[in-house]
Amino acid sequence: MLSPEADAPLRAAAMTWLTVRSNDGADPLPRHELESFHFEGERVPLIDRQRGIRKPAILEAALSIITVYRAEGTTRPYEDGTGSDGLIRYKWRGLDPDHAENRALRVAMERRLPLIWFVGVAPGWFQPVFPVYVAGEEPQLNQFALAVDEVFGLVEPETHLEAQLRRYVERVTKQRLHQPVFRSTVLRAYTGRCAVCALAHRDLLDAAHIVPDSHERGEASVRNGLALCKLHHSAFDNRYLGVTPDLTVHIRQDILEEQDGPTLLHGLQRRHGQKLMVLPGPRSQYPSKELLEITYRRFLEPA
Ligand SMILES: [Zn+2]
Repeated sequence: MLSPEADAPLRAAAMTWLTVRSNDGADPLPRHELESFHFEGERVPLIDRQRGIRKPAILEAALSIITVYRAEGTTRPYEDGTGSDGLIRYKWRGLDPDHAENRALRVAMERRLPLIWFVGVAPGWFQPVFPVYVAGEEPQLNQFALAVDEVFGLVEPETHLEAQLRRYVERVTKQRLHQPVFRSTVLRAYTGRCAVCALAHRDLLDAAHIVPDSHERGEASVRNGLALCKLHHSAFDNRYLGVTPDLTVHIRQDILEEQDGPTLLHGLQRRHGQKLMVLPGPRSQYPSKELLEITYRRFLEPA
């Protein structure tokens, strides 16, 4: 039987195990794999079927939290709000501050313990983000404030930040949380294939934004995403290749007229006028016509 002193080594072992299994945090993992973690001969599931906040019986503090996957409608792949301090908010379980899960998360906050955040990117699939810390609690709003490790201790929840520091907190949070979640959500929606050419090597694939995330409409939603291989991602961003709102690939005229080797011919010119080869299963995850329209209009502008 494990003792409470197992807390620190268990947490460290779980994060090391996840680092390896998730390709250094890049890839999502299925629920059954997260339930198969062992520590000192005992199985210690890292995720709970019934609960959002996971506290193994032998520990006093929470070990992980979950944000469940929501099928795409108007919702984002991540739902948690961000405060004016740039930190992310995670809702209490229910409204009772003394609920066992809320207490477990509060203990993690008081002891400044590292946690694992599992964000649902498809039914039964979770992107691990770790370590994250509980930076504070807002009881009146029934929520905790979470910080990825680089910004933990740097800002206090609900304090007014100078613009530069706030931008830093937001940038780091985007890199550590939102980008991996966006990538995994989009790649899973496109079954790990390039929408233009169907290439299926994850290492050679990106989740491209249809409208750049610097644009006011550039949300991190699967409907603003396309799974594209490296060639087609660069071609799309650099306007060699456009996708019409009815999901047809267009290649720029001067590229069509160029004479060169097989990559130009097969990779670009022969894709002209073809429909996207891969699309998500549910239509609700298809690229947004409205967002494609914005980018396609830009594609048509003279260079
Ligand atoms: Zn491709």
